[in-house]
Amino acid sequence: MKTEELWKQYEEQRFKISAYHLVLGTTFYDSDTIAPEKGRQYRNERMAYLEGEVFDMETDPKFIELRETLYNREDLPEQKKQILKWELKDLESFRYIPKDLYVEYNELTMNSNVAWKKAKNANDYKMFEPYLLKIIDLSKKMLQYRKGDLQGYDVYLSDYEPGMTVEKYDRFFDLIREKLVPLIKKISAAPQIDTSFTNRFYPADQQRKMMKKIMDYMQFDWEAGVLGETEHPFTSSLSKYDDRVTTHYYENNLLSSIFSVIHETGHATYNYQVADELAETYVFDNMSSGMHESQSRLMENYLGRNSAFWDNLYPEMVKLFPQQLSDISQQQFVDAANASVCSLIRTEADELTYPLHILIRYEIEKGIFDGSIDVNDLENIWNDKYEEYLGIRPTCASEGILQDVHWSGGSFGYFPTYALGSGYAAQFIHAMRKDLDIEACLSNNEFGKIKEWLKEHIHKYGGYYLPQQQIKIATGEEFDPQYYIDYLTEKYSALYKL
Ligand code: ZN
Repeated sequence: MKTEELWKQYEEQRFKISAYHLVLGTTFYDSDTIAPEKGRQYRNERMAYLEGEVFDMETDPKFIELRETLYNREDLPEQKKQILKWELKDLESFRYIPKDLYVEYNELTMNSNVAWKKAKNANDYKMFEPYLLKIIDLSKKMLQYRKGDLQGYDVYLSDYEPGMTVEKYDRFFDLIREKLVPLIKKISAAPQIDTSFTNRFYPADQQRKMMKKIMDYMQFDWEAGVLGETEHPFTSSLSKYDDRVTTHYYENNLLSSIFSVIHETGHATYNYQVADELAETYVFDNMSSGMHESQSRLMENYLGRNSAFWDNLYPEMVKLFPQQLSDISQQQFVDAANASVCSLIRTEADELTYPLHILIRYEIEKGIFDGSIDVNDLENIWNDKYEEYLGIRPTCASEGILQDVHWSGGSFGYFPTYALGSGYAAQFIHAMRKDLDIEACLSNNEFGKIKEWLKEHIHKYGGYYLPQQQIKIATGEEFDPQYYIDYLTEKYSALYKL
């Protein structure tokens, strides 16, 4: 059969699978935002069934053969070959897992998510522990069905960030430990920045209006996206023109929703700006987690915490909160948004202490998989590490080991990409500065110029390139974490007048 005809067959099957993904993605979004709690079990069972259907289609021997045949055709255009390459690579992560185990694992993670929420509300790790131990057990079991050169934790690290291994992450985190821990100690001893006004009462309705203004400023396309509400903010791009951003409003915390929304808009913008020719292909949404996180953190920290970002927005915010903010200058607000304080909650952590929260999770995950830590003692290990690196010890599980959703979903290997993404972002900003006066763009209400730069250098490619290649294309250099360390050191030394 002609290559073109085979490709048509391939596209038909891909279309079918994408229809299932759309249904699953929409149900997931619905489930996490507005669906009633009592219907959860019914939904979860059916979603697990559909996941099984997708699994069957993806691993159908005929479909695997079709893709392998196509991949080896000499007359297949390079771009199509590359797309198939990623697809076949991802297939490796589950193709040899028995379906029963795959469905069991998916159902376990959905139920674990429910158990995690209950345990967190009850502030009782023991309620979640049996689920976590089972997830660890199955995650290790599934490693037996993986082929390839990588072993243990490296397999999962590389699933989220192709090319990354314990050895490479160790080097990255060694640098963080060595350079940032002493800086954080100095800052703890310096005069602190006043952030108390951010905990005044900020009604959710007024906050909703503010989020609209922020997303307008970032030129979010409201005809191709929505902003919903959830417990834990996330973004899901169901297609290029269907980007679902979510946030959570805390009426005694001004900063939380603002920076969640800027962060999530960064994720949505990445998918929205993928080139049309790739938007309905496999690489639309297969960017590595580190790459995706680099784009959300670039917006959240490197742009959103820049004073120039607020030149237009801060006066608007004072209009929305006249009683709460009329005595606070833009500079005071921006300083508070950048203040560094050792705290217990990762998602509320400042830019400087953030990578240490990740370092802690990385060390624990590494220990789980190499067997160097006792999985029956995880809560204590967690608390000890917080004391060691951040100088504070969690006194309850909801502010300790139960704070994050990730392990309930079995997402081992995901956390490290958060810190890595911040590192990538520093290098992207450094490159962007060669072409753009970033502060002028922000101050002159020209966010579109920044978006355009990101589109041309990064976004339009989707997940077509490996992160290491993508960084080189965008910046002309290999990834160098020194940009990240330099950025944090300069910024925080100035802010705290060290
Ligand atoms: Zn993110």
